[in-house]
Amino acid sequence: MSAPDSARSLHFETTCVHTGVDKDPGFLSAITPIYPTSTFRWDDLIHNRGFDYTRSGNPTRRALEENIAALEGGIDCRATCTGMSAITSVMYLFAPGDHIIAPADIYGGTFRLFHNILEPMGYKFSFVDMIDAENVKRAVTPATKGIWIETPSNPLLRVTDIQAIVEIAKGCGATTIADNTFLSPYLQRPLDLGVDVVMHSTTKYLNGHSDVVGGAIITKHKPHAERVGYVVNALGTACSPFDAWLVLRGIKTLGPRMEAHQRGAQAVAEFLAQHPKVEKVYYPGLSDHPQHALAKRQQKGFGAMLSFDVKGTRADAERFLTGTKLAQLAESLGGVESLISYPETMSHASMTAEARRKAGISERTIRVSIGIEHPDDLIADFKQALER
Ligand SMILES: *Cc1c(COP(=O)(O)O)cnc(C)c1O
Repeated sequence: MSAPDSARSLHFETTCVHTGVDKDPGFLSAITPIYPTSTFRWDDLIHNRGFDYTRSGNPTRRALEENIAALEGGIDCRATCTGMSAITSVMYLFAPGDHIIAPADIYGGTFRLFHNILEPMGYKFSFVDMIDAENVKRAVTPATKGIWIETPSNPLLRVTDIQAIVEIAKGCGATTIADNTFLSPYLQRPLDLGVDVVMHSTTKYLNGHSDVVGGAIITKHKPHAERVGYVVNALGTACSPFDAWLVLRGIKTLGPRMEAHQRGAQAVAEFLAQHPKVEKVYYPGLSDHPQHALAKRQQKGFGAMLSFDVKGTRADAERFLTGTKLAQLAESLGGVESLISYPETMSHASMTAEARRKAGISERTIRVSIGIEHPDDLIADFKQALER
């Protein structure tokens, strides 16, 4: 049921290509087949072949789950239909009355779920600035049952010290959950740093081609694995066999894609940092980023998300955002094509203007998801958009 142990001795890139693949005993197809069936025949009243109904389990989805569990170093994984359904499902590790500490600059959709849906149901949340772990320590109460980690943060790429947060959680018996969407397991493995549960929006780097929405929950303790498996079946949040197949297909190139992504991000960040029309660049790979050393220590690379403030006014930001020819103005991230977005009216529109300013997001802040295009072409595109 869990990731095969043999996968552990393979290199990451090899695991991406091979784990969970041999799911066709009938014809030995080289690639995992899609099993688009809602139900499975039983041999008799007692025996089936391991699957009975696709909400509960499906061979294609199971292949993806084995693959992602191995990539994150967990004992089990459940693949869900969106990142948000992964978060919804994993929150059933807690109950009303429980207190959960979460980052103040958490992903907007997660904030909406926690604040607008779960808080009225009796869950308690403290949203704190996790850059200083002392803030987390101060927020702990006798009811604290969970600590949510998301690093680097969106959109300003602030880096949280995962091990420092894990220490605090151990001290108060809280379960740690890390949203690892921004880096993927190729660049950061929170379970190795002591985190209990990892979740992903597979919509982003794991699938990597902007053609599916999906999520995943990876566990490393048996009680968590059993509870999450039970909840995903009970809630009906599992993903379709076709979506599972697409994500499994995308993951095969995760390693080479991440290398190409961050090669471009580093080049673009360095170009922007020296451009006279740019005020400030937020990218952990720049040596003047406040958590550059921490990022270097806990990540295998700096990823491909970056933000920057243009000089001037909102109009200057708008001129850039509507002036690129390669980079597309769109939400989301993690695909092979570069996307630019405007947190003010897009990803962070659900925050009040005051909350955005407090978080450091201005009317001149632009977020970029660097794709795998050649860096020189991206730089030329950004240059003409800045200077037009
Ligand atoms: C996109 C995203 C989510 C939500 O995932 P969906 O697939 O859109 O439901 C959660 N966390 C982070 C960090 C994300 O970028």
